[in-house]
Amino acid sequence: MSHTRKETYVSCAQERKFFVFTQFFRKKLADKDYYKILGVDRNASKEEIKSAYKRLAKKFHPDVNKDPNATEKFKEINEAASVLGDDSKRQQYDQFGADFERRYHQDFSREFSGFDFEDLDFGDLFEMFFGGSFREPRSRKHRGRDLRYDIELSLEEAAKGIKKSIELHKPESCSECNGKGGDDYESCNECNGKGIKRVTQRTPFGIFQSSVTCRKCEGRGEIIRNACPECHGKGIVNKKKTLEVSIPAGVDTGAQLRIQAEGEAVKNGVAGDLYIFIHVKKHKYFERQGDDIILEIPLTVSQVILGDTVEVPTLQGEAELKIPKGTQPDTIFRLKGKGIKHLNYSGAGDQLVKVNVKIPEKLSKKQEQLIKEFSEISEKPKSLFDKIFR
Ligand SMILES: [Zn+2]
Ligand SMILES: [Zn+2]
Repeated sequence: MSHTRKETYVSCAQERKFFVFTQFFRKKLADKDYYKILGVDRNASKEEIKSAYKRLAKKFHPDVNKDPNATEKFKEINEAASVLGDDSKRQQYDQFGADFERRYHQDFSREFSGFDFEDLDFGDLFEMFFGGSFREPRSRKHRGRDLRYDIELSLEEAAKGIKKSIELHKPESCSECNGKGGDDYESCNECNGKGIKRVTQRTPFGIFQSSVTCRKCEGRGEIIRNACPECHGKGIVNKKKTLEVSIPAGVDTGAQLRIQAEGEAVKNGVAGDLYIFIHVKKHKYFERQGDDIILEIPLTVSQVILGDTVEVPTLQGEAELKIPKGTQPDTIFRLKGKGIKHLNYSGAGDQLVKVNVKIPEKLSKKQEQLIKEFSEISEKPKSLFDKIFR
């Protein structure tokens, strides 16, 4: 397979480009012996490889050598040197031999599944294969980072909803120049006002051309002549910003509120979003269970025997609860709608009131006398033994 065909692949449809690209790898690598190409021993030192490369590169450089095969040979030498001259690449080559490319291919399909190939250029691919570092493909639109802010609420606040003031220090668009960085523009001389530069990369597998955003003008194609004194032409300043956040009733720990465009601002792009992470503190008395609230109330023996009306605290204030005569311990009463408002639909949870009967540990003489009298005239329960076996 010849290197010159490479150029046609570049102009192919994006998906096909990728496909052909990997095929190309497979064919090229399987039958190459880089040591042979450079004429060095497998144990050659880096210095030996370097000098072998220098000698051969001089000899076969297309400017010097007019042999029609010289270009091909020169590329081969470069390819070999770029692998053997790099310790980690050489190690991989030695280790995997003919399987070298397959290993990369597998890595490639694993790492890139789910990515949009249109976002990749050969620079990205090249880095993926050989740079070791994984760079995220450029997204179509320049976007600032999302920010996270953690906020702690009491159960009452979470139940009712609340407005909170939060203070953020973050990159904001400069108000002095409206984020433009200044005025009076001139065409960028680095990219001739195109905002994009064509970059030619020499790789072991041929010459790759790709388009990259011009660094000097950041893709705008123009440069500011009068930089804004406030942001020094950056269009972005670090600012303290106070935000009023409305937290809806019903949130619980783990809830996240997304506030659009309140993340980091970037010049000539969209600001990221702000994510507010909610944490709801445990309450001393109220226990939350979904949108229901559980509360234990202590009642005296006479209250449960004779019945009573008691005031019960709820998240919405006091509520009246009627205790019927003969209420048993651990009875649960339901106060409809006195729980936490549902976050995503109408209505609210309930408050569950659990009865905890307090048996007096000490009695006055009179109390004891009365309890004894009560006992004498009370029906004795059948023993459990009788109940079960007779
Ligand atoms: Zn430029
Ligand atoms: Zn400014």
